Amino acid sequence: MGKVLVIGAGGVGTVVIHKMASLPEIFSEILLASRTKSKCDAIAERVGKDRVKTAAIDADDVPELLKLINSFEPDIVVNVALPYQDLHIMDACLEAGVSYLDTANYEPLDEAKFEYSWQWAYTARYRKAGLTAILGCGFDPGVTSIFTAYAAKHHFDEIHYLDIVDCNAGDHGKPFATNFNPEINIREVTQKGKYWEHGKWIYTKPHEIHKPLNYPGIGPKESYVIYHEELESLVKNFPTLKRARFWMTFGQEYLTHLRVIQNIGMAGIEPVMFDGREIVPIRFLKAVLPDPGDLGENYKGWTSIGCRIRGIKDGKEKTYYIYNNCSHEAAYKETGAQAVSYTTGVPAAIGTMMYLKGIWKKPGVFNVEEFDPDPFMEQLNLLGLPWVELHDVDLEL
Ligand code: NDP
Repeated sequence: MGKVLVIGAGGVGTVVIHKMASLPEIFSEILLASRTKSKCDAIAERVGKDRVKTAAIDADDVPELLKLINSFEPDIVVNVALPYQDLHIMDACLEAGVSYLDTANYEPLDEAKFEYSWQWAYTARYRKAGLTAILGCGFDPGVTSIFTAYAAKHHFDEIHYLDIVDCNAGDHGKPFATNFNPEINIREVTQKGKYWEHGKWIYTKPHEIHKPLNYPGIGPKESYVIYHEELESLVKNFPTLKRARFWMTFGQEYLTHLRVIQNIGMAGIEPVMFDGREIVPIRFLKAVLPDPGDLGENYKGWTSIGCRIRGIKDGKEKTYYIYNNCSHEAAYKETGAQAVSYTTGVPAAIGTMMYLKGIWKKPGVFNVEEFDPDPFMEQLNLLGLPWVELHDVDLEL
């Protein structure tokens, strides 16, 4: 059905390629390109070399990327490299006349700040070129946004309170490791808290608001309000929301390590001089931390991510909880990657499928909740991320 160029051969890229390679009737030709070609080759080897071509690319080099896109002529480029590459890849797609999908919004290298403004600014150009850009098509952002759209479409007349709850109850056996790219992950979890209430953003100190929440099949876990990027588009696309928050679980051991890392300056993004050359502390830290891609083998336990929603249906107040639980062990067995990469990679593959089937195809730049959630939700059940709905339950929030 279509040709796909996937950029980024990390944990998420591994899962995207596994899923795409298993669906030849949808993804008829696949090219995987990343900075390090040997990583692409290793993934291609695992899924069967005849299904996936590989190439080396520095996606920040727009002219080179443009050459690669023009020589392969994909229908869509799937960006699962890092958020720093988003704008460069969007530029190359625009120039080549090819659509675009990613899982994380743009972040400048020199500032720990992520927001959609930079990517939304491409809307008129994508619209004029007749191209589609699908933003944030992982789990969160991604499935959480689609869960919200599905709830609004089928179960509510108005949604008023949204709490996205993200629990990783897995144990990888290491004293400290991050589940996806350490640099991006640490930048995300050490920033100030922020949530939406009554039409404005409320700021908190990092990890200031917390409480134990019960996760299905897992039990109570201390959960912390942090800022997460899907809140920005969800409050815009669902203006009836009176409050929208994002909760993530952290263990005490993880938080203690994080505090020490910050206190000794290892989370810094400003260059420092070391042995006569500049290094960026958080980059150095990434080099000594476990590679998230290697955590899978001994990872036990589950992730549980969902949306707890309160609103109005037929004039009455209603509560609703929709979630997916994903096993680290099952994810590893299927793809060689742990559940955090799995829950991101599967939705990216499904979003690409939605585009290739012409279901999520319209000119412009869109967050995933702006498309019809139903066909996507159907595929989640078929492709390894089944979801569960609970109606009129105690949301604890
Ligand atoms: P990894 O660090 O494991 O992989 C990133 C890959 O991108 C690496 O293989 C790296 O190549 C490659 N890369 C980095 N820079 C470039 C470049 N300039 N040109 C080409 N390739 C490059 O990260 P993950 O797989 O864990 O995460 C991938 C993306 O998914 C990130 O953007 C992350 O924020 C996002 N994500 C989204 C989630 C969601 O639910 N929405 C959840 C988790 C992650 P090399 O190894 O050669 O350096």
